[in-house]
Amino acid sequence: MTDRPMGFDTLAIHAGTAPDPATGARQVPIYQTTAYVFRDADHAAKLFNLQEVGYIYSRLNNPTVSALASRVCALEGGAGAIACSSGHAAQLMALFPIMQPGRNVVASTRLYGGTIQQFSNTIRKFGWSAKFVDFDDPKAIAAAIDDDTRAVFCETICNPGGAISDLDAIARVAAHAGVPLIVDNTTASPYLCRPIEHGATLVVHSATKYLTGNGTVTGGIVVDSGKFDWSASKKFPSLSEPEPAYHGLVFHPTLGNMAFTFHSIAIGLRDLGMTMNPQGAHYTLMGIETLSLRMQRHVENAQTVAEWLEQDPRIEAVTYPGLKSSPYHNLAKMITPKGAGALFTFRVKGGYEACVKLIDNVKLFSHVANLGDTRSLIIHSASTTHRQLSPEAQVQAGAAPDMVRVSIGIENVADIIADLNQALEKATA
Ligand SMILES: *Cc1c(COP(=O)(O)O)cnc(C)c1O
Repeated sequence: MTDRPMGFDTLAIHAGTAPDPATGARQVPIYQTTAYVFRDADHAAKLFNLQEVGYIYSRLNNPTVSALASRVCALEGGAGAIACSSGHAAQLMALFPIMQPGRNVVASTRLYGGTIQQFSNTIRKFGWSAKFVDFDDPKAIAAAIDDDTRAVFCETICNPGGAISDLDAIARVAAHAGVPLIVDNTTASPYLCRPIEHGATLVVHSATKYLTGNGTVTGGIVVDSGKFDWSASKKFPSLSEPEPAYHGLVFHPTLGNMAFTFHSIAIGLRDLGMTMNPQGAHYTLMGIETLSLRMQRHVENAQTVAEWLEQDPRIEAVTYPGLKSSPYHNLAKMITPKGAGALFTFRVKGGYEACVKLIDNVKLFSHVANLGDTRSLIIHSASTTHRQLSPEAQVQAGAAPDMVRVSIGIENVADIIADLNQALEKATA
C-alpha cells in the first residue's frame, strides 16, 4: 500500500480492519467475548485511566464492533466513532455528552417519525426538550436557537418525503450560534453525502438501513468530526470541565479531537449500555463492503421508477428530488450529487382508500416499516410510522393520508415497475 489517500470504494472494504493478528484470518473475526484478560495490574489501571487504549469489557468496546466504528468513521471522514445498538440509541448517544437538564435541541420538522416521537416525549424524561422548525428556512432555525440550545438536528435526505436539507446553510446557522450540527445521514449513506464536508459536527446513522443493506441487523453509529471546539464556551461542561462521572477527567483539553468519542465510550456506553453486539457488527461490516455498488443501483432504480410514476395518470404527484419538478432538485445536485437517494413518496389519485388497496396488492414490494433494504419496500406512513402524529404534523412531515412511501431496492427495475403497475391497476379500478 502507498501513502496516497484511498478512494471510498477501497475504504468501504478495508478501513478499520487488517488481517487478524492472532490467526491471520482475512475477514474480521466475530470476537464473541465479554471480557479481556489484562496483562497485569498496571495494564488494567492504565486502561481504566484512559492512559492506554485497549479492551476491558464488551459493553464499552469490542474488536469487531470497533472495526465497524473505524470503518464508518473513515467513510464519513470523521475523527472518531462509536457503534451502538440502534439508530435511536445513536441519537441519544450523540446528544448525551452535550445535553443537560433544561437544555434543548432545535430539530427539523422533517424527521423519521420515530425520531419526532423520541424528541417530543421520551427525551423529556432526561429534562431535555426539542423545538421543531422548518429547516428549509435558516432564519427560522436561527430564531429558534436560544441560550439553552445545545444542538441543531436534521436529516440529509428527509424521511419520508425525500426532501434535501441545505446542510451548508444549516451548518452556518449552528456555527454562528456556537452549537454543533448533528446530521442523521441514514437515508443518504456516506456514499451519497458526507455531512462533515458540509459543516456537520456529528453524524448519526441507523446502521439498520443502507449500511447493513439487507434488513438483517439493528444498529447505530455516531461519528464525530473532531472539529468542534467544546471549550470555546461554557455550554458543554461534560467535555470542557472536570467530569464527575469519570473521576474529574477534563475530556476536551486532555483528549483533544477524540474527547467526544472517549466520553461516549467511557461514560455513554458504560452507563447507558446501548452497545452493539459483535455479530451485528459483523453483518454490518459485510454490508458496507458493497455499499457503493448497492447505492449506485438504488439511485439508478429510484430515478427510473420516479420518472415512470410521474408520467402515470393514476399518480397525483411524486416527491423524488431527482426529478426536475422537485423543489429540492437543485439542492440535491449540491448535497447528493451522485443521486438523490432511493426513498420518496407519491400521492395516488383516490386518496387514502387507493393507497391502502395499492399496498394490499403489491407482490414484489414488501409492506414493512423499514427502508434501505436490497428489496423494494412500501408503506403507508400516515397509518403506520407517522400514525401517532396529528394530521397537521403528518402533512408537515411529508406523510399525508394519500401518500405512499417507497424505498426502492436493487432488483431488476422493470420488475419493480411491473409490480407497481399491476397494483395501481387494482387500486384505481
Ligand atoms: C430507522 C431510522 C432511525 C432509527 O433507527 P433504528 O435503527 O430503527 O433505531 C433513525 N433515523 C432514520 C432516518 C431512520 O430511517
